[in-house]
Amino acid sequence: MNYEQVRSVDPAVADALEGEDSRQEGTLAMIASENHVSKAVLEAQGSALTNKYAEGYPGKRYYAGCEYADDIEQLAIDRAKELWGAEHVNVQPHSGTQANQSVYFATLEPGDKILSLDLTHGGHLSHGHPANFVGQFYEVEQYEVDPETGYIDYEGLAEMADEFEPDMIVSGYSAYPREVEWETIQDVADDVGAYHLADIAHITGLVAAGAHRSPVGVADFVTGSTHKTIRAGRGGIVMTSEEHADDIDNAVFPGGQGGPLMHNIAGKAVGFGEALEPEFEEYAQQVVDNAEVLSDTFADHGFEVVSGGTDTHLVLVDLRESHPDLPGGDAEDALAEAGIVLNANTVPGETRSPFNPSGIRAGTPALTTRGFDEEAIAEVGDLIYKVVDNHDDEAVIAEVSERVDELCDEHPLYE
Ligand SMILES: *Cc1c(COP(=O)(O)O)cnc(C)c1O
Repeated sequence: MNYEQVRSVDPAVADALEGEDSRQEGTLAMIASENHVSKAVLEAQGSALTNKYAEGYPGKRYYAGCEYADDIEQLAIDRAKELWGAEHVNVQPHSGTQANQSVYFATLEPGDKILSLDLTHGGHLSHGHPANFVGQFYEVEQYEVDPETGYIDYEGLAEMADEFEPDMIVSGYSAYPREVEWETIQDVADDVGAYHLADIAHITGLVAAGAHRSPVGVADFVTGSTHKTIRAGRGGIVMTSEEHADDIDNAVFPGGQGGPLMHNIAGKAVGFGEALEPEFEEYAQQVVDNAEVLSDTFADHGFEVVSGGTDTHLVLVDLRESHPDLPGGDAEDALAEAGIVLNANTVPGETRSPFNPSGIRAGTPALTTRGFDEEAIAEVGDLIYKVVDNHDDEAVIAEVSERVDELCDEHPLYE
């Protein structure tokens, strides 16, 4: 990017912006929630719409001068409806977390009960962790994955729901590598009279492209982040049926937010438009194919892959089997030194602290955007194993780092 204007007024910020560009260009982004949006999305997000107040919704604003804001938000809404087949879409949530908050605010009273997946088993903070207000305002119980298989324990979930009688069941996860059986969870919710929120933050792109089954039209509410696999402008989205449309719109604004971030909504519109192109389907399938190859490569080296594989864009490795003395955080540090950026992650049956847990999580969305195919991803899998297995060996890390530089050069990002 060109930061001519920033540089002329603020060299310190320009330095950091340029530093970040080179960091992204020169490292392998394997944090499963990250992606690289197009230059078109970047441009839209950097537009003068950041100046505009547009509280309200298209055609019903509290401020004058919203004609272009209306056009853009309507485009984002219409494209989202087409992408996910939703009856009603709200594109204003500032993030995936705010999208979830709006669903809770629209449907629950303080003290009501939420049943969600445990964070260490792949859930998300906004699903009711005690550190998040959701965990403090509502009564939360958490289901788990089956410790043997790594798959959601659907039976255990049904039993807990019978016992706990939740008002809301949350599905959709941050570190779950398998396809989710939305219908099964919806049946449980129906049986106990709970709402069902399916949070597809990570897999919005896979669902839009048909590479993962869709909860839209199944779950009462579907939320997502718009900057992960869907590769659009940064933020969140809520999808629901006409029945809940007004409740959701009111819960987003004025319930939980003020003015919408119209520049980000422009980025969502552009990214959604890109995702409607046929190439996006190929992209999403390649993301999943690459993750499978990564998982196989890991397994061949002797890493213990949670659930034995993946159906999605991410692979979760439990290091306790192959490298019992190496916490995930230390593996993350060694990999970062080699230019491979992923995150330490808790694993089912976690025995370490969340700050330095026992696993690492690796995703393929960003590398696939850069054009990595199965062969290139398999090599990255080899490199990851090499670093983890030689995390104390500076020479090995330097050697891998050189190869990472070459791979980055071979797969340019923003030419
Ligand atoms: C990433 C994520 C979110 C939150 O997204 P933000 O945009 O970071 O607020 C919500 N739910 C799940 C399951 C996620 O993985």
